[in-house]
Amino acid sequence: MRMKIGFEIHEQLATKRKLCCDCPTDYREAPPNTNVCPICTAMPGAKPMPPNVKAVDAVIELALMLGCEVVLDQPIYVQRKHYDYPDLPAGYQHSSTPIGINGELVGVRIREVHLEEDPGAYDPVAGTVDFNRCGVPLVEIVTEPDMHSPEEARRFLRQLMLVLDYSGRVRPEPGTLRADTNISLEGGTRVEIKNINSTKGAYRAVKFEVMRQKALIERGAVIPYETRAYLESQMITVPMRMKVVDFHVIPDPDIFPIVIDRARVETIRKRMVEVPHQREQRLVKQYQISQAVAGVIVSERELADLFEAVAKEVDPKLVATWFQTNLKKVLNYMKLRAADVRFTPEQFGGLLRMVKDKRITPEQGELVLRELVKQPAELEKLLRRIGIPITVELREKIKLEDRLKVVPLKHGELEAAVVKTLEENPKAVEDYLKGRKEALNFLAGKVMKLTRGRADPREILKFLSAKLKGKKKRRVSRRTKRSK
Ligand SMILES: [Zn+2]
Repeated sequence: MRMKIGFEIHEQLATKRKLCCDCPTDYREAPPNTNVCPICTAMPGAKPMPPNVKAVDAVIELALMLGCEVVLDQPIYVQRKHYDYPDLPAGYQHSSTPIGINGELVGVRIREVHLEEDPGAYDPVAGTVDFNRCGVPLVEIVTEPDMHSPEEARRFLRQLMLVLDYSGRVRPEPGTLRADTNISLEGGTRVEIKNINSTKGAYRAVKFEVMRQKALIERGAVIPYETRAYLESQMITVPMRMKVVDFHVIPDPDIFPIVIDRARVETIRKRMVEVPHQREQRLVKQYQISQAVAGVIVSERELADLFEAVAKEVDPKLVATWFQTNLKKVLNYMKLRAADVRFTPEQFGGLLRMVKDKRITPEQGELVLRELVKQPAELEKLLRRIGIPITVELREKIKLEDRLKVVPLKHGELEAAVVKTLEENPKAVEDYLKGRKEALNFLAGKVMKLTRGRADPREILKFLSAKLKGKKKRRVSRRTKRSK
């Protein structure tokens, strides 16, 4: 059964001020109803200020990044979209006529890009309203119904989130996304679903809705033309209202229409960042790396920036391999994003050069990377601190007395250290047994510390692997016994 899925996405813009007044937009920090003024609470007689230029520029930029044409040299009206709800003191929401049209992202056509305003926050249980959010500028992105499966919908949303993230023009905090989707199956009716606030939520909502509509069609029932709400906690959609809402949209007579000229668009185009999927293509060509690796690298803007900076220092192919495997692994295990990385491109470059010149092994390199991520450090000092044996020329630099302090490991000392480490780090052991191979390096680092750097990392890894293998076997046999 062929299906058609389209989206309407709202995301808050990262401006300091609201759209039609000077109130600050950081409503999360402020006590309820403190970031407000007569304009954003629609007091009688209060007139809106002209729309925030930064917000308009941000929407133009996002429209360009989504491949849209910007509507030039004609009035763009800021309209009043009327509806009654406690979160909307004016009784209408400001929403512009399209600023961008006819765009495209990963094969999905972007119909329109608008500027909008957020309503306040109403708590139906407590019966309270907080108007701090009222008037915070939003971008609204409307797609054509070009997606044909929940997977396609998810892929598009992921890519869109990435573009928004790259732009730096939307709020970075999670939970600011709001997506409505419309779904229709062949022979059915178009149904709208509201209340989706994550990519995962969108995927589940679409999946549920397709199933529901399919079942109705197969039974020969008519699908009502309606708006439904997605309930995140239960992963289902429920009826919200029959779809006969007329918003009575009229241009706001108090706001002068926006007119955008070519010069303004060109200025914005010049400062605009490269869109992730285009950057991916460029990385493939420029650095001769595979599509898959480039995809991993552009998955975060900071990661891509870092890659290009390090690629100036060392062989880009080696850098790419390390980014895709070791660095990603370390970041995933430590639950960090590329933006949290502390080291400089030069330090990472230096580390890769050491690996390339075979002064340290790749395994040792990963141990060093694990430390570098947390704290920038001089490589040689760091190597000494975590006890990685270094080559002759490096040894020369280390003072003689330091070397004399090094006592070789006694018989059984390494094994004892391994056992102790496994006992003291049950979480990492558990992770490893569950298949998270990167936990092994974490444990190796601990053993290294315990032996004060006197053990050979390869020996450590060998011992660790052997002990962990034993644990796995014991666990499996225990389980099979129990099941008998
Ligand atoms: Zn205000």
